[in-house]
Amino acid sequence: MSQIDNLPPLRDVIASHDLVAKKALGQNFLLDLNLTARIARVAGDLSGMDVLEVGPGPGGLTRGLLSEGARRVLAIEKDSRCLPALAQIAEAYPGRLQVIEGDALQVDPLAHLTPPIAICANLPYNVGTELLVRWLTPAEWPPFWSTLTLMFQKEVAERIVAQPGSKAYGRLAILSQWRTDARIALTLPPGAFSPPPKVHSAVVHLKALPEPRFPAQAKILERVVATAFNQRRKMLRASLKGLGPDIEDRLNAVGIPPTERAEQVSLEAFCALARTFEK
Ligand code: SAM
Repeated sequence: MSQIDNLPPLRDVIASHDLVAKKALGQNFLLDLNLTARIARVAGDLSGMDVLEVGPGPGGLTRGLLSEGARRVLAIEKDSRCLPALAQIAEAYPGRLQVIEGDALQVDPLAHLTPPIAICANLPYNVGTELLVRWLTPAEWPPFWSTLTLMFQKEVAERIVAQPGSKAYGRLAILSQWRTDARIALTLPPGAFSPPPKVHSAVVHLKALPEPRFPAQAKILERVVATAFNQRRKMLRASLKGLGPDIEDRLNAVGIPPTERAEQVSLEAFCALARTFEK
């Protein structure tokens, strides 16, 4: 296996810092540095870009990002046990790695980053989807980042790229495809991680569009879509009842049959429905 840097192999790093994986923090570490470099390449040309990495752990992906030429990496890690391993990487790449110990859901990374900015992460499922929705739904667009390269459970990745009429189609598909070009770039078997998770994983690449595909206010679209898919088997006139007594008129006004189910409705039609709630 070829070397990507002069630092010790990840297995040795994990052993020497006694980084026994903690389930509560969703720790499934990538050990193959050729693979982490490959994931970094999914993010595109990183030279001249700052990269925000959430959850660097022992630093496999961090090393991939740095060896692939990221101008700077800002890494936010909740588990203080990982900090000494990350400090070794910072030493090997002087001035290019800054580590913040903290919860990525609480830390505002913007003060530490200079555009253009790419985001790259291998995160636990819950934190990952919450951050993805946050990154996709700022009031203003374009956002502070240009691309997102994110590892998810394969089933979540399929929800991001799903099309209407499929079981996987829902909130994540609509919010992702509304404002980005999204694709699955890589799928990985459980054995790529230590310890191996129960399911396959996939790396999704999302590229911010200069403007959303259809006009809508993010908060309103998010609420309409979340409500519609909360009871996805019901007809929309029933599942959306909570949005107002005149929901049937609104559906008719934008050409959505009130007897339709959410999973049949296009992104364009959801945006049109969301616009009827704008003041
Ligand atoms: N990036 C490493 C890799 O690919 O091997 C580690 C990936 S592991 C799936 C997830 C990492 O996210 C762990 O290091 C964990 O401690 C960290 N983490 C979990 N929740 C976090 C949070 N809320 N904020 C920041 N880091 C978090």
